Amino acid sequence: MAPVLLPKLHEPNDSEALRFGSRALNYRELACVAAGIAEQVAGAGRIAVWATNSLETCAAVVGGLTAGVAVVPINPKVGKRELAHILGDSRPEVLLVPPGFQAPEGLGEVPVREIDLAVRGGQLPPEPDEGEPALIVYTSGTTGPPKGVVLPRRAIRANLDALAEAWEWTARDVLVHALPLFHVHGLILGALGPLRLGGAVHHLGRFSSAAVAEELAGPATMMFGVPTMYHRLADDAERDPEIGKAVGRARLLVSGSAALPAVEHERIERLTGLRVVERYGMSETIMNCGVRADGDRRPGYVGRPLAGVELKLVDERGEEITVSDDETVGEILVRGSNLFSGYLNRPDATAQAFVDGWFRTGDMATRAPDGYIRIVGRKATDIIKSGGYKIGAGEIENALLEHPAVAEVAVTGEPDADLGERIVAWVVRAPGQEVAEQELVDHVARLLTPHKRPRVVRFLDALPRNEMGKVQKKALRYG
Ligand code: ATP
Ligand code: MG
Repeated sequence: MAPVLLPKLHEPNDSEALRFGSRALNYRELACVAAGIAEQVAGAGRIAVWATNSLETCAAVVGGLTAGVAVVPINPKVGKRELAHILGDSRPEVLLVPPGFQAPEGLGEVPVREIDLAVRGGQLPPEPDEGEPALIVYTSGTTGPPKGVVLPRRAIRANLDALAEAWEWTARDVLVHALPLFHVHGLILGALGPLRLGGAVHHLGRFSSAAVAEELAGPATMMFGVPTMYHRLADDAERDPEIGKAVGRARLLVSGSAALPAVEHERIERLTGLRVVERYGMSETIMNCGVRADGDRRPGYVGRPLAGVELKLVDERGEEITVSDDETVGEILVRGSNLFSGYLNRPDATAQAFVDGWFRTGDMATRAPDGYIRIVGRKATDIIKSGGYKIGAGEIENALLEHPAVAEVAVTGEPDADLGERIVAWVVRAPGQEVAEQELVDHVARLLTPHKRPRVVRFLDALPRNEMGKVQKKALRYG
């Protein structure tokens, strides 16, 4: 018998499973709703779910998973071209939508069915094989057009169990959640994690510091967020110390999806008394590394590989880097039970992504003597080759964020006849602050080394970010 992905649905009780505002489902209700959806979609190869932040979306994903069909969660803000691409690529037999859905352009011929939580089913079907696809998650498209990542049931189960062990995560935990439900972070960690363990999810619909604070002062024990949320939380806690105090009652604050700047880590600690736990993952691998609940929480470090994950750093020739000096930078390669089974319909891209069974993440990092991994950035967009040096954008971003006039920043490389690439800093100034380009250049030259100073500073009103708060550097570079 294959291990069960969501065991609590098979022996359900009355404890709360999912809460969205005033609407909630306990495990008994969720099991009946999931069985109802499973009956509707049984036998389908694949289904898509219009992934708004709603109880219906969560229930539909759970229903699809219990039916053993692969679920494609779709970002409801997707544009028409991308929607047509995703539907054409994944060919779902039906698109399940929450009430109030309005057909967008790009929908094409796919049959649409509204999710109705009043429809309840009986028995849950038997558990499918662990190698079967559970989710097909489209990547963020940070480095190219989104690819459909096929995640087998095994990867989700193994990775959630590794996280539960690392974070001492149990059925007693209540997670406050404000992330979207179409990505690994919000869907697998944020929704399926608590449901696998038998705990509860309190979804806020959208992020607000006040709502997070209220939850953490009340029933919630942990929060999963992206760096932009911690930035806003810190800003709001500066204005209202009660927010910091409330958030400080959390058992665990976890950040991921992008690097948490050192200044934000320090501000959160100062304002809440808690140090954020960072973890590192991606659609293709779910989570690779994480700081443990009882581990050392240092700004900039994502901890060690999780149970079941093997990780190595390799140099440009693909040779393994064996030193742990926290200085030598290499690309992260991973293998283990957490990995995807391939990109949908893209055998070429899948083959390219692997060397000898190891997945090339495209992320560059160092390893400290105690095994802690420090991500320096992405090979494609964050490593700037300037004047014969290889410079990580993250280090310069962190330095600039220490300047009081800098609210947000992204550093990129641009072709330069003399230097190969020149360092460009895109800066959003803090409200009411004026600062000259030269002052920021000097600030970096003083804090780091002169060759790491930006050659150009461009001021913007806002950085282009996606819904996970990731900066879209492509848009800065070429836009
Ligand atoms: P695409 O693959 O389509 O270009 P994407 O890589 O942004 O988009 P995701 O799979 O959602 O899509 O994001 C994974 C990436 O996010 C990782 O490869 C890494 O670069 C970044 N990331 C995740 N967590 C962290 C972290 N804690 N610190 C730094 N970077 C992180
Ligand atoms: Mg990627």
